[in-house]
Amino acid sequence: MKLPLPSLLLVCLAWGLALDPVAASESGHKTESKAESKAETKADAKGEGKGERKTESKADAKADAKTEGAPEIKLPPSMGELREMIEHKISEVRATRSPAPVVRLQAKGGKGAEKSARKEPKPEARGPWAYDGPSGPAHWHELNPEFKQCGMGQRQSPIDIRDGIPVELDPIQFDYKLSAFRVIDNGHTVQVNVEPGNRIVVNGRRYDLVQFHFHRPSEERLNGRQFEMVAHLVHKDLEGKLAIVAVLIEEGKGHPIVQQVWNNLPLEKRTEQAGLQGLDLQQLLPEDRRYVTYMGSLSTPPCTEGVLWMVMKKPVSVSAQQISIFSRLYPMNARPVQPLGDRLIKDGQ
Ligand SMILES: [Zn+2]
Repeated sequence: MKLPLPSLLLVCLAWGLALDPVAASESGHKTESKAESKAETKADAKGEGKGERKTESKADAKADAKTEGAPEIKLPPSMGELREMIEHKISEVRATRSPAPVVRLQAKGGKGAEKSARKEPKPEARGPWAYDGPSGPAHWHELNPEFKQCGMGQRQSPIDIRDGIPVELDPIQFDYKLSAFRVIDNGHTVQVNVEPGNRIVVNGRRYDLVQFHFHRPSEERLNGRQFEMVAHLVHKDLEGKLAIVAVLIEEGKGHPIVQQVWNNLPLEKRTEQAGLQGLDLQQLLPEDRRYVTYMGSLSTPPCTEGVLWMVMKKPVSVSAQQISIFSRLYPMNARPVQPLGDRLIKDGQ
């Protein structure tokens, strides 16, 4: 039995279509995983991945549509010649069709993405920032237009604190109390979100404690000396201005507050665990509360400047075991020191 050429072509075409779901699902899978990683990136920043979901459903729809065409094909296995032609057609179809979705993706991730990035810059648009490798501190400013300050800023943190002018500084008035708290591993550090109601007053300005978190080793240095760890207590005033109190941490005897935080470490990243008992925040501070102060920035992207830094001159101590617990999560999460430039450091006596 011989089929006339036109019907042969028809069969081949239909076979090509029937085969396409495989190609479609492969590329669909690619689309999906790319979309997933992108969505994850966006979710980091915004908690949503709307645009990407569209891509995913488009690929699904395509696969569905192509599957519907499949039942038309019934091939007699005995027709060797026909099979050979079909195989040839298959390879043709593969060659011409499989690159198509890739082209579509490139178009989507290319011009369009740049355009939308210009319009509405998304934090971490090119993947999450890190403390080493291609997304490390030297590249933060390249990762997202919003991180520009990390590279261009002239008043960045941390710094090596030295040659401050010795002055009498007004003591920071700490108004901390026993507070409910939630611990979160945010992918960059262990952070403790505290309930409102803890405040400091400095230079006549009132700031509320929002959260504190840890770095290892300490980001700031005192006369070149880097400490085992540091806790950053982040405060915000009503206008959104930030004041960060840094408590340096050295190895010594164990610290009850740090232990309480470690006890409440969530098992999974980006999930909060509420502490059962309140945290006595006063205990986080050294007895001697003299400090040095300078104007700097967030030490993580987007490296926003205009942050009032107050670094306690005397460290508190935590045990070697407490340090090693943090090290297992974050062996190194400290930004390198930044140039001081023409900034003034005031050293409280
Ligand atoms: Zn910090």
